[in-house]
Amino acid sequence: MLGGIEAGGTKFVLAAGPSPREITARHTIPTRDPETTLAEAAAWFAGLGQITALGIGSFGPVDLDPASVTWGRITNTPKPGWADCDIAGFFMDRLGVPVGFDTDVNAAALAEFAASGGAVGSLAYLTIGTGIGGGLVLDGQPVHGIAHPEMGHIYPRRHADDRDFPGTCPHHGDCLEGLASGPAIIAHWGASLSHLPADHPAHAVIADYIAQACHMLFASVAVGEIVIGGGVANTPGLVERVASRARELDAGYLPGGTRHKIIRPRLGDNAGITGALMLAEKA
Ligand code: ZN
Repeated sequence: MLGGIEAGGTKFVLAAGPSPREITARHTIPTRDPETTLAEAAAWFAGLGQITALGIGSFGPVDLDPASVTWGRITNTPKPGWADCDIAGFFMDRLGVPVGFDTDVNAAALAEFAASGGAVGSLAYLTIGTGIGGGLVLDGQPVHGIAHPEMGHIYPRRHADDRDFPGTCPHHGDCLEGLASGPAIIAHWGASLSHLPADHPAHAVIADYIAQACHMLFASVAVGEIVIGGGVANTPGLVERVASRARELDAGYLPGGTRHKIIRPRLGDNAGITGALMLAEKA
């Protein structure tokens, strides 16, 4: 039996099953301070009986370097209490099982890559929600680099109808997350994207910023497919708008451009937790 945790800033999704595609038990708990949250998660797994491995897809930033003494920790998050939290070590000690650990978005990318059935050799997963993050799978392997990608913090070119909003990222102001995350949209226009009228200019502005990130991914690492999940991405029509805008931005230039796909998750809301179970399987 495998265990998986999709560790998010607002909730932890817990699941167990004999394989990543066969979830037989699941449970969601709110994210509070680390002590309370991790203890509640561990108690839920303990109550299921013996799991043989655990996978964690976590919000970040996290330390993914297996040679590092702080591997498995959340590092410099501004989320109160969570900086330097040894999330992987806690579960190794408490449950006595091997733990696989990666970012939440790399876990989701792995799961979507598997769900594509080999249709693409490489894939990126973008989440557009409370924050913006991206995971990358190239030739079947998640990309970490010297830490892990932080695709939400690139600077898009400002849209002609959106010059003045300073953005909400505490580090960068008008980076992608500072302009197009859920909280940024509310700070800018006073409502979530799905609550703004269909003809509101925000729809085109947000689609443009996300499309620029997609174009960057197609142009820089030549992924075949970009999967877009997260709460903001549930806005009706947004992903289609992003795909259309990305084609405009490319202007027919990139090799393989006609095969570029921008889609909603094949696994729906289960991408992250399925990826966490895949990390358990690997562990
Ligand atoms: Zn930023």
